Amino acid sequence: MQDCIFCKIIKGEIPCKKVYEDEDVLAFHDINPSAPIHFLLIPKKHLVSLAEAQPEDTPLLGKMLALVPQLAKEQGCQNGFRVVINTGRDGGQEVGHLHIHVMGGPQPWPRR
Ligand code: C5P
Repeated sequence: MQDCIFCKIIKGEIPCKKVYEDEDVLAFHDINPSAPIHFLLIPKKHLVSLAEAQPEDTPLLGKMLALVPQLAKEQGCQNGFRVVINTGRDGGQEVGHLHIHVMGGPQPWPRR
């Protein structure tokens, strides 16, 4: 997707603080963190949102969710973490490329 900011991050056209990368996904620190630890996990495939995912995307979505605990632990989430997938306008989604927010670190920090 030409104008998608997260596709540009995947292509290296916009910098990010990378957490993890493989052939299917990229994880990077959120530029405007809502918690002491806050990173985003995104598919390299341009999926607009969870609502647009198709049955053939199920293995990718499963892989992403399965990766979250490992990455959260590596990033220092010692006592749990929060996972948020804002979806669509009423879901508060601002960037139209599916992303999983992973937030953690010692409380208190705001709900999101
Ligand atoms: O779920 P939502 O679409 O609202 O969240 C988008 C997130 O992407 C925000 O938390 C924002 O800080 C983050 N972002 C980022 N790097 C960018 C642009 C947005 O981490 N270059």
